[in-house]
Amino acid sequence: MTKLIRALTFDLDNTLWETDVSILRAEDVMARHLRTLTPSEWMAEFNLETFHALRKLVVEEQPQIAHNLTSTRKETLKRWFENRGATTAIAYDLANEGFRVFYEERQNVTPYPGTVATLKQLSKNFKLAAITNGNADLMAMQIGRYFQFSLKSQDFLEPKPAPGMFEEALKLLKVDPHECMHVGDDIEHDVIGARQVGMKTVWFNMHSLSQEGDTLADYVITDLRELLHLLKLHG
Ligand SMILES: [Mg+2]
Repeated sequence: MTKLIRALTFDLDNTLWETDVSILRAEDVMARHLRTLTPSEWMAEFNLETFHALRKLVVEEQPQIAHNLTSTRKETLKRWFENRGATTAIAYDLANEGFRVFYEERQNVTPYPGTVATLKQLSKNFKLAAITNGNADLMAMQIGRYFQFSLKSQDFLEPKPAPGMFEEALKLLKVDPHECMHVGDDIEHDVIGARQVGMKTVWFNMHSLSQEGDTLADYVITDLRELLHLLKLHG
């Protein structure tokens, strides 16, 4: 079955690298930076909990930006400062500056062991692309060189598992759904989403947390290097 495969698409966050660590670090760097730019009382109550609570409120009010992590973060920061008495113009500038620092730091990810070598090997035999609901800037990273492109949900009407992003990737890769294998850690977004458009699916179950994807995905792996065996390549 795998000999029909001509291209692979990958989820990014928690598939190629652990995301939570880099997000937490980026949140911290952002908060420290904003503290240097604002009156101390504006950031006195700022922490993960209060920021996330406000973000939840913002998303409830503007559900149309929920899948755009850039807009969501900027809008939440802007609201944070407006709530503390900043003018809209100042709140807007601070939000942009906060996001800039966050975004830069957020790109500083460490691929899981063996990932870079695996992608390198795969890229010699298959076309590779990324499909993410997050805002990682893959093509600006070192490993971006192994990929043809990276699609972000913020540029689409709907995030995964909706078919739009998968269909666009297939179109750009010039392959039929059954010739493309999608690899991702999220059952709903990655496995069910890709399966719905007819792609082959690999559930990346790194932490072996559950078996819920076993019957849904065509293959289950706990280490990306397993793809080389699956696709009959010798790493
Ligand atoms: Mg993921």
